[in-house]
Formats: sequence, structure tokens, C-alpha cells
Amino acid sequence: MKTKHTYTFRDNRNILSLGQGTWNMGDDETRRKAELDALRTGIDLGMTLIDTAEMYGNGRSERLVGEAIRGQRDKVFLISKVLPSNASRQGTLKACENSLKRLQTDYLDMYLLHWQGRYPFEETVEAMLQLRQEGKIRDWGVSNMDVAEMEEFYSIPGGTTCAANQVVYNLTRRGIEYNLIPWCRGNNIPVIAYSPVEQGRLLNNKLLSEIARRHNATPTQIALAWVIRNPGVIAIPKAASAKHVEENFKSLSIELTDEDLQQIDRVFPAPIRKMPLEML
Ligand code: NAP
Repeated sequence: MKTKHTYTFRDNRNILSLGQGTWNMGDDETRRKAELDALRTGIDLGMTLIDTAEMYGNGRSERLVGEAIRGQRDKVFLISKVLPSNASRQGTLKACENSLKRLQTDYLDMYLLHWQGRYPFEETVEAMLQLRQEGKIRDWGVSNMDVAEMEEFYSIPGGTTCAANQVVYNLTRRGIEYNLIPWCRGNNIPVIAYSPVEQGRLLNNKLLSEIARRHNATPTQIALAWVIRNPGVIAIPKAASAKHVEENFKSLSIELTDEDLQQIDRVFPAPIRKMPLEML
């Protein structure tokens, strides 16, 4: 099904622009059942993009996701990430194998370089292209890369096949609106917005509460509706309970008005100059 909040990848795969993050999930046995329930609830609702990384809990997040998607792998758009310290040519291949094992699957929908490290981008790209050739990943992309790094990728053989950039984006961190979002849009690459509710710090915001009242909604829903108002942006909130996931899902049906957006711009101004890319 295609809706206003569907992102279409270059290979025509459609995905809802609200997915699920998993940082800090899988770390606490006593929370495991609730976390599995949260992820499965999200999948049932159509929030099928699940974001994890080998870094998260040293593989514990990937193991949890593997368990959550067992028996329904084909419904899920699975993203994992290679640590920069593993991102050499051989290191990337090995890291991917390990992620696949923990996730109990034989392919990733998207494999990202988590952030820039000491290995030349060329090595990582070669490994990504090999993994794609072997069918172990469908697509590859990057995370925490600004326009200069994106251009560097684009200058490498095969670099223009980069299919996503995952960066921090929320009401309090709008820097990427200045030129990274336009760059990604111009190159047909989605921005995958991490920490879309500023790791929970936005949830008691006064203005968001006021706007939420007008929409019979919650501040979380307003913060998420704002992030995904832009068709090239996919948000991946992390929610560790089915209740939070269900609440987040409803942000897809909130239409912010011009008045809401103007009020938001006054309190959380858009960038008027280039800002350094933030990273959490
Ligand atoms: P976030 O999604 O902005 O915030 C997560 C926090 O918000 C959690 O404490 C969660 O609580 C709370 N929350 C979510 N929905 C809620 C709701 N409906 N009501 C109340 N509280 C709610 O922060 P994040 O985890 O940093 O970012 C999201 C994902 O992006 C990560 O999990 C990870 O997958 C990815 N990420 C990537 C990078 C990178 O470098 N590429 C960096 C950071 C994050 P509960 O857990 O109790 O539900």
C-alpha cells in the first residue's frame, strides 16, 4: 500500500516512513518480552523498517531483532551497521557475516557504515559492492555523513550506489535542513532520521504539548509528525513497549497545520547557515 508517508527506494521498494530503532534494546533480560512485543507490534502495524547495529549492546540488539522477526523475515526491511573499526575490506565482509548470524537471516535490506573511521571509504565501498553481488545485502549506505563526505563517496567507483544516509534529526537539531537534506533529495537518497524524539528529551516540551492538545495527540506524536512531514525523511524512533509503538504509529495520521509549523519555527528555528553535523 502506498500512502503519503511511503518512501520509494530506487529499486521501487516501498517502505513506511516510520520505522523502529533498537539502540539499548536487548540489554535487560527482564525487559525482553516487552521489547519483542514492541517490535512485533510495530511490524504488524506496518512499521517494518527495523534499524540495528553490531555496536548496540555488542550484538544483543541484533539478537533480539533476530528473535522478533523469526518467521516473518520477508515482511521486514532490515538495517544493520558496520563499526568504523571493522570497516576495512575484509573486516566489513566478516562483520556482515556475524551480523547475519546474530539476526538469523541470510540477507540485510540495507547495510550502513556507522560513522567515518580510519579506513579509506574505497575499502568499505568495495566490500559493500561485493556483499551486494553475493546477495548478502540488498543495498548499502552510510550514517553520520555530511555533504562533504557524501561527495567523497560519490567520487569513488560504485559510490553513487549509496542508498541512504542515517543522521540525527529532530526539532532541536535541524542543521541538516541547510544543505544535507537538499543534497540527499537531489541524489534520490532518503535521510533516515535517528533520535527523532531527542532520546525522550522532547516529550515534555511546552509548545509540543500545546500543539498536541489541538490535535488530540501527544507531544511524541507531534515531534514524529514533524520529522516525517518531509517526503524524503524516514524516522526511526526507539520504543520499548507496544503501547509506545502504537502511540508512535498514530503520528502518521497527523497533519500539521501552517500555524503549527510557524509556531514550531519560532521556538525551534531552521538553520540560516551551515552547521557542523551533529552526532549522538
Ligand atoms: P529516540 O528514538 O529519539 O528516543 C528514544 C526514547 O524515547 C526512549 O527512551 C523511548 O522510551 C522514548 N519514547 C519513544 N516513543 C515514546 C512514546 N510514545 N512515549 C514515551 N516515550 C517514548 O532516540 P534513539 O534511540 O537515540 O534513536 C532512535 C534510533 O535511531 C536508535 O534506537 C537507533 O536505532 C538509531 N540511532 C542511530 C545512531 C547512528 O549513529 N546511526 C545514533 C543514535 C540512534 P521507551 O524505550 O521506554 O519506549
